[in-house]
Amino acid sequence: MTSSVLQSFLNENISALKERGLYNEIDPVQGANGPVITIDGQKLINLSSNNYLGLATDERLREAAKEAVDSHGAGAGAVRTINGTLDLHLTLEEKLAEFKDTEAVISYQSGFNCNMAAISAVMDKHDAILSDELNHASIIDGCRLSKAKIIRFDHSDMEDLRTKAKEAVESGQYNKVMVITDGVFSMDGDIAKLPEMVDIAEAFDLITYVDDAHGSGVLGKGAGTVKHFGLQDKVDFQMGTLSKAMGVIGGYVAGKTELIDWLKVRSRPFLFSTAVSPADAAASTKAIELLIQSTDLNEKLWKNSHYLKDGLKKLGFDIGVSETPITPCIIGDEKDTQKFSKRLYEEGVYAKAIVFPTVPRGKGRVRNMPTAAHTKEMLDDALKAYEKIGKELGLI
Ligand SMILES: *Cc1c(COP(=O)(O)O)cnc(C)c1O
Repeated sequence: MTSSVLQSFLNENISALKERGLYNEIDPVQGANGPVITIDGQKLINLSSNNYLGLATDERLREAAKEAVDSHGAGAGAVRTINGTLDLHLTLEEKLAEFKDTEAVISYQSGFNCNMAAISAVMDKHDAILSDELNHASIIDGCRLSKAKIIRFDHSDMEDLRTKAKEAVESGQYNKVMVITDGVFSMDGDIAKLPEMVDIAEAFDLITYVDDAHGSGVLGKGAGTVKHFGLQDKVDFQMGTLSKAMGVIGGYVAGKTELIDWLKVRSRPFLFSTAVSPADAAASTKAIELLIQSTDLNEKLWKNSHYLKDGLKKLGFDIGVSETPITPCIIGDEKDTQKFSKRLYEEGVYAKAIVFPTVPRGKGRVRNMPTAAHTKEMLDDALKAYEKIGKELGLI
């Protein structure tokens, strides 16, 4: 029997979302998530994935995954601290440390889970965390879980950060103070001001934590935002995911050996949840090896990104302030944005509308994620659709 309280809660809230047009219908993809996807039997140019380097469908990763299934089976069998740490997990961590140029790495089951794990392993209710107002949901939840005082600073406003850091430290109320930020912000594609942030951190002895989900594989020739600025020795936590540019699943923290040793004994998702499967670990390792060996995919990603951005700009669209492949096409009005995305779909392009409350009111946009796997023809076809619909809706 379903609880009647639950039933009425669900009915009321689901219909409220539907009335406000905020109930998200999920489109299942038939087959692989490549540069072209199939939804409802229709082939679409895919500009919505986070598969920056096209590795999710790469033949070499598939082979590595298959071999690991043959040699190690389908699952890890236990949590890491019992006997679920396979040699494949250690190889992954060693490769990641080499790639990130840090002493050590701990890997987790996802990026989200990593933020849940790592923040609260170090911060507690006697501490404070300075958090950029546009930080990802997993950072927000990880901070909440720690019970530290959360102090939000204005987006990428280093003066605001300095003022709040000074206040927090000089108040004498907190044992430790951390500053935490996305390396690359996923809605606008702007890069965190890490050099200034590190200066402020040094001045006030702050712990530094960079979530580089959208920077890894993309900036710093693939090694991430911290490497892009040459700050590997100045950032305590370099968090990253294996699910975006690396094309697989998993998260990790790269840092000093003592920090990683501590996370191995204190982070709860590491202690109480089973590790990623052999196929995941082996495919991720292969992805990192490929990025260490060659920057070809990274260069292709940037080439495609510039091509798409230049094309949209020439057509007269507002593509915002992105400094990375993330390419928002800012339409403004929420309804126009939804309509634009729907028309793109009808014309064979899959690019999602992102509107309030994910972005501020009146800043609705269609977000494009070009990848290394797109061909010039695909991008030309997408631009043609943009031109047609932009004119049709009187936006260009
Ligand atoms: C996607 C994302 C995550 C979560 O990573 P998953 O590996 O998909 O769980 C964490 N932080 C940021 C900034 C992200 O964009």
